[in-house]
Amino acid sequence: MQDLDWAPLLQRWQGHVFAPGERGEIGVGKQLAAAGRPLPTSALWLRARSESDVRRALEFLARHEQGFAVRSGGHCFADLSSHAEVVLDLSELRRMELNLQGLRAGPGVGASEASAFLTSRGRLLPTGGCPGVALGGLSLVGGFGLLGRRHGLVCEQVQALRVALPGGDLVEASANHHADLFWALRGAGAGQFGVVTELLFDTQPAQALNVVHARWPWDCAAAVIEAWQALAPAADPRVNLELALSAGDDPEDADEGPPQIELFGVVLADAEAVPALLAPWRRALGSLAEALCEWRLPAAAAASYLCGRLDRRCEPAWQPSQPYREHGYQFTKSGFFAQRLPASAIAELLAHFAADRRYAQHRELEFIPWGGAYTGACTGAETPTSGKRPQADCAFSHRDAQFMVRHTAVVGARSSAELRAHARRWAQASRATVATAGNGRVYQGYADLELPQWAQAYYGADLPRLRALKSRHDPWMLMHHAQALTPSFQDLPTR
Ligand SMILES: Cc1cc2nc3c(=O)[nH]c(=O)nc-3n(C[C@H](O)[C@H](O)[C@H](O)COP(=O)(O)OP(=O)(O)OC[C@H]3O[C@@H](n4cnc5c(N)ncnc54)[C@H](O)[C@@H]3O)c2cc1C
Repeated sequence: MQDLDWAPLLQRWQGHVFAPGERGEIGVGKQLAAAGRPLPTSALWLRARSESDVRRALEFLARHEQGFAVRSGGHCFADLSSHAEVVLDLSELRRMELNLQGLRAGPGVGASEASAFLTSRGRLLPTGGCPGVALGGLSLVGGFGLLGRRHGLVCEQVQALRVALPGGDLVEASANHHADLFWALRGAGAGQFGVVTELLFDTQPAQALNVVHARWPWDCAAAVIEAWQALAPAADPRVNLELALSAGDDPEDADEGPPQIELFGVVLADAEAVPALLAPWRRALGSLAEALCEWRLPAAAAASYLCGRLDRRCEPAWQPSQPYREHGYQFTKSGFFAQRLPASAIAELLAHFAADRRYAQHRELEFIPWGGAYTGACTGAETPTSGKRPQADCAFSHRDAQFMVRHTAVVGARSSAELRAHARRWAQASRATVATAGNGRVYQGYADLELPQWAQAYYGADLPRLRALKSRHDPWMLMHHAQALTPSFQDLPTR
């Protein structure tokens, strides 16, 4: 790459170019680095300002056989969008337009920006719960959130995508055009087949809902998990309640130190219907149900809650100041489960969670309910007002899971190598406590660099079809990162 003459590209470049070493810029939008790997400072960053910039970059990079990574919001849990010699940064592609077809949005639009834009127009896009995650990466990995059991994945709201293919050709992929690409991008598209420059989403009407929250002391954790497993995955799709177990970074702190367990989420229904929808929860929780709190949120506040601008108790969420000059480190493992965890596995998971804690190491376990519209079989009630059905035929194959568990340890920017190693070991061992009860599958949106059979775990039976498509669209693997699909040999074109 050192010998490459970039001048022909940069002469016509509309965006900004950051030379290797401009670390401050690389840190923008990135609070935590993954798996103990510091964010690289060696990459040349091409920040595109337009689709023409993207096409020009792809033509140039293909001509010089120069590999690159793509970045929209930079929230990849494995930093696949940052570790490369050349990064094509789409964070400025943030145009939004709402018309009768739906929401047209650039890949750099954050979940929170989309939410604010749509709310003021009476509409809603089901996204995940992190305000800074961009629609680009979110839609390409699948995208679950607190409305997912009702409306399906974020990628199922996508009706069409504009895609610059390696080499520079621009196509629009939809159910009727480039249908294979349309299928593959929604679920398996992160940095694999082409650079998505615009997405067309169907939207839902903005709606009031009930937020539910409860917090219990640690000795209730096993009973709460047992009850949650029996209820959450099979609940009415309008009920989406998660569990979060957390342990603050100071084990000695009398208030924040002890680990705790919380239930949080939404009931998306008219106020009169809510008591009946929560009745099974109150029955199953027995005396523990006394901790349940509820808030009725009007549509605008509901949208803020759903994208993480309000916290679990409906207070304004803490937002870290940006740009980050230093980044901490997060270690994340996860897995899907098609059946309940046995009591012995729950006991082991909880014991491991509370044992051998260290100062300045934060731990978290999240239980995310599946079922409902995630099965891919959507009911009439989930049909958006445009009349189109969610596009469930896509490369997202985690359909039969009951729930997902995420294990995360976070340490600060100035943590010692020993503390980072301890956090890594904790996350690995936490996952191992429940691994045998899992179905072996892992959400591609929680990319994990340490996963040995990552392609099988993310894509399952779709893998051969995806590799054939890689052969067709990016046989030279110009779009390259540590978990890039390899082309299937028999499908490679002849030069
Ligand atoms: C704090 C936090 C909270 C999260 N919460 C949720 C959640 O609630 N629900 C959920 O489903 N996920 C969640 N995630 C995971 C998140 O959805 C994925 O990591 C997502 O891929 C991030 O998208 P991004 O554009 O922000 O990140 P990036 O790092 O920019 O991109 C992620 C991947 O997509 C590729 N990519 C990005 N843009 C394009 C493009 N335009 N064309 C082609 N490839 C592209 C990148 O190369 C990379 O491989 C969370 C992640 C974090 C860090």
